[in-house]
Order: sequence, then structure tokens, then C-alpha cells
Amino acid sequence: MYKILDGKALSLEKRENLKVLVAKYEKERNQRVGLAVILVGNNPASQVYVRNKIKACEEVGIKSYAYYLPEDIKESDLCDLVKEVVENPAIHGVLVQLPLPKHINADKVLALIPRKKDVDGFSEENIGRLCMNEDCLVACTPNGIMSLLASEGISTMGKKAVVVGRSNIVGKPMAMLLINGDATVTVYHSKTKNLKEECLQADILIAAIGKAKFITADMVKEGAIVVDVGMNRDENGKLCGDVDFENVKDKCSYITPVPGGVGPMTITMLMFNAYWAAIRS
Ligand code: NDP
Repeated sequence: MYKILDGKALSLEKRENLKVLVAKYEKERNQRVGLAVILVGNNPASQVYVRNKIKACEEVGIKSYAYYLPEDIKESDLCDLVKEVVENPAIHGVLVQLPLPKHINADKVLALIPRKKDVDGFSEENIGRLCMNEDCLVACTPNGIMSLLASEGISTMGKKAVVVGRSNIVGKPMAMLLINGDATVTVYHSKTKNLKEECLQADILIAAIGKAKFITADMVKEGAIVVDVGMNRDENGKLCGDVDFENVKDKCSYITPVPGGVGPMTITMLMFNAYWAAIRS
């Protein structure tokens, strides 16, 4: 019988704990924790993510600073704004919502965020420190997944973990966290041969692909722990993950649902990163 890794419930619990920490910070430092969220353009998905992040800030008592910029903003103007925002001592964490419009070099913009304010954990320095297992701000989605596993007492030590997807924001930092957690890790991607056979080896299978119901029951080992990062729309426009949940679940010991699994944890970890950034400022 499988067990649900309930990101929604864990998020609620963690946000309650964080609320107390944030209030304590505010009282002791006579200052609020401040998080800046910069959104360029009108991408509907990005608008939803930003709205949810701002709502989460309100819930835990973090002061949000939202910047809504036009799609056709010049790269140099965006860079000037980011430089100004990162200098503001009331703002402890800064994130630029991705993706940025094509005419803007995202790497150039993200490089302007100093590592201690890089609450997304995307900077070269934070990624480098993660690779070296040193103190850093960790990318929120993989960090949330580790937290979900830990909440059920699932140890990664000695487990065979497979991460499908190698993006800089999910797959790679996920693999690093699992290595740091003493798992034996393999990362697969679109050029991997025999993906099915490879996935069947996994004690822990993380799907971060972006393809609806891509991981099917014949790719999952009996008793595996399956974590679904994907956020896709199925043929009926309904939100679904990268895992064919209905057919896979009975093979699993644990599985995350979509929605209500990894998604809420991502935003909760962002709130924690903002708090940690404030504490260390
Ligand atoms: P990317 O598109 O950046 O990366 C997708 C990865 O999947 C790539 O490494 C790609 O390989 C790999 N891939 C694509 N097709 C295949 C295939 N046929 N076989 C094996 N691997 C394949 O996506 P992200 O990492 O940004 O996001 C992945 C998913 O997670 C998306 O659905 C996204 O919406 C969701 N997401 C959810 C979050 C949450 O909070 N729940 C947060 C962030 C993302 P290659 O490198 O070779 O192209």
C-alpha cells in the first residue's frame, strides 16, 4: 500500500513554524524580513507563481516588494533596477521570476544578485557551494523534496536515486542534494538510452521532465519512492505531473501527488530562504 508524500500538509505545518520565527526576528531586530519579487512581462504561469509567492509572504509575515515590469523592458533598465533592489538593506532576498523574455540574458541578470540574497539558489556561487556541500541558499524545489522525504523519515543513505531531468534549477541541484545525502545518484535526460531499464533500478525516482504522465508503471520498481516535480496540463487541460499517478501509485511505497506534492514545498522553501537570508544579513 502506497503512502502519499503530502506537500500541502507539510507546507502548512512548516509555514506555521516559520511564522513564529519571522515574528521573533522582527521583534529582536526591529525590522521585517523583506523579499523582492521581480516579474517581467505577462506570462500567465509566471503571474500565478508570483501571486502565490506574495500570498505566502503575507501568510508568514514576510514583507514582499513586488516589481511588475513590461515585457519590452530594455535589458539595461532591468539590470539597473536589480542593482538598486539588491542594495536596499530592507530587502534580504531577491528573485527574478523565470523565464525572462527572449531579448534579455537571464544569466546576466541573475549574476547581479549577491549570493546572500539569492533566495532561489541559482547563482554560480550558491550552486558551487552546494556541490562542495557547504553552507548556501539551496534551490527551493529540490530542497523541498529533501524536506518531504525527511518528514517521513526516509533516509537517502545508500539508496539508488535516479533523477530524470538535468536542468540547472531542478535536476542538477536535486542530484547534488542526494549525493550530499549519501545516495548513489544517476541523472538521466533526453539523450539517455534505455531510460525504462535505468528507471527500474531506482529506489528513489525523481521526475523533473515537463512531460505529462511520462513515467509509466513499467518504469517503476516495486516499492520505489516516486517524487513528481512536473507541472503539466493533460489532454483535458487538467494539471498533472510527469508521473502517470493512477497507474504508478500501487507500485510505490511513497508517491507525491500533483497538485499538492512538490509545488507547495517549493514556495515554503522560498520563504525559509528569505528568512535565512535575513538572519545572515
Ligand atoms: P527543463 O525543461 O529545464 O528540463 C527538463 C529536463 O527533462 C531536461 O534535462 C531534459 O533533457 C529532460 N527530458 C526532456 N525530455 C526527456 C525525455 N524524453 N527523456 C528523458 N529526459 C527528458 O524543465 P525544469 O527542470 O525547469 O522543470 C521540469 C518540470 O518541473 C516542468 O514540468 C516544470 O513545470 C516543473 N517544475 C515544477 C516546480 C514545482 O515547484 N513543482 C518547480 C520547477 C519546475 P535535456 O537536458 O537533454 O533536454
